[in-house]
Amino acid sequence: MNKSNNQDNLLEKIVSLAKRRGFVFQSSEIYGGLNGCWDYGPLGVELLNNIKSEWWKAMTYREDIEGLDASILMHPKVWEASGHVENFTDPMIDCKQCKSRYRLDVLGDSINEKKKVKAIQELKESVKNNNTLQTKVDEILNNSGDEDPFERLLEVQELSGMLLQQLNCPQCGNKGTFTDARKFNLMFKTFVGPVEDSGAVVYLRPETAQGIFVNFLNVQGASRQKLPFGIAQIGKAFRNEINTKNFLFRTREFEQMEMQFFVKEGEDKKHYDYWKAERLQWFKNLGMTPDKLRYHDHPANKLAHYAKEAVDIEYEFPFGWGEIEGIHNRTNFDLSRHEEFSGKSLKYFDEQAKEKYIPFIIETSAGASRSFMAFLVDAYYEEEVKGETRSVLKFHPRLAPIKAAIFPLVNKDGMPEIARKIETDLRKSFRVFYDDKGAVGRRYRRQDEAGTPYCITVDTQTLDDKMVTMRERDSMEQERVSIDQLSGYLLNKLHND
Ligand code: ATP
Repeated sequence: MNKSNNQDNLLEKIVSLAKRRGFVFQSSEIYGGLNGCWDYGPLGVELLNNIKSEWWKAMTYREDIEGLDASILMHPKVWEASGHVENFTDPMIDCKQCKSRYRLDVLGDSINEKKKVKAIQELKESVKNNNTLQTKVDEILNNSGDEDPFERLLEVQELSGMLLQQLNCPQCGNKGTFTDARKFNLMFKTFVGPVEDSGAVVYLRPETAQGIFVNFLNVQGASRQKLPFGIAQIGKAFRNEINTKNFLFRTREFEQMEMQFFVKEGEDKKHYDYWKAERLQWFKNLGMTPDKLRYHDHPANKLAHYAKEAVDIEYEFPFGWGEIEGIHNRTNFDLSRHEEFSGKSLKYFDEQAKEKYIPFIIETSAGASRSFMAFLVDAYYEEEVKGETRSVLKFHPRLAPIKAAIFPLVNKDGMPEIARKIETDLRKSFRVFYDDKGAVGRRYRRQDEAGTPYCITVDTQTLDDKMVTMRERDSMEQERVSIDQLSGYLLNKLHND
């Protein structure tokens, strides 16, 4: 079998399959689309719901985590306390010639290595007569370790402007046309009520986490939880990303699956390590290829202002490694800030220790839509079968949008009636699909592309022995299963494998 996940045009193939089979459509497509927004079609919404439901079960079907669904619009002070009004910015540059806009910190992705090397050479030339700048450049070039020196040079304010002057705009090709970097806040603003003045400004939440922090004591009190315990939430988040690209990877509207675990200071490291391992395992349990998953620990100098320790779980997408989930030790930053800004105590009373304190928080923050993309890419295979190419989505059965398809071999001799009866019975517990069009081989291929793990065919023999042919998607092996055991068979496959 041929695994085709190395092909250059893999992403294009997946985007096209996603559209053709109704996984994902461009938002407002008939009007030319809206950048950074996507719609989930009939198969897509099933896959997305299954991912969210697996996450919800893994995170909240346990004693020490409670669920929450907080509102998207929150009091504007929340975002002052969280630091988003001040710090949730990306450095942005524009091309004066063609008006293209870029995020400075990822500009390097759009420029080839040769051009970067040349630009660095030219930068070295231009700082020759300035000792301070020359030392800075040399320091970076000699000490960048694993990091890209080009990116590090762009981070230094005095150097980034000079380096930008040596570059050609990736869009129009003109040299020296970039503006200086400006801070661009990624939060979408809107207004509450009829008056659109500054007093009525609210933001679409850029993360679900803050809804959890401000409800910490509400949830703790109502559920009578004791530390350590967590609060989990799935919901939409919005970020006005400067560049959206790579399909669902970076979008302006997306969904997050976040859990904040409240712990006593001093026990934070233990819980951080536990969740780090647990979250990677979750992706593996749902069939994601282990070799395509890795940790990326944040070096101390790259940690967010609130974090003590942070790691990304990365997946190897066709365009390279990218974060799908972040695990952060947020210390007591969030609750302390909300206490300060709201004037309300957010301290926890520890009955055992008879002391009051602000807990530390270990956060697990995954993108539902980014995970969707990772699961979709990971599931896609092309294989040669009897001289033909078969495209198949090898989803874990629990994630598969349709669990089983039911076919009558031919549309006569009582087969459709038996098949319809099976469909009605199975539909009570599973999402199934009935198909009586075309040769059975073709029907299999259609289900392979949709990722359906089981196909059930009612054939001539069924009329005698009340058994059907069960064909498994990945191995394409077939076995006979008794009609009255079908439901149990599927349940077993979904829950025990
Ligand atoms: P990135 O560096 O890729 O912008 P981030 O570090 O800002 O991501 P977090 O704020 O930690 O991301 O968000 C947690 C998770 O939310 C990410 O791991 C990702 O799965 C998801 N996410 C963040 N931004 C987006 C986006 N624009 N589109 C889709 N998913 C996103």
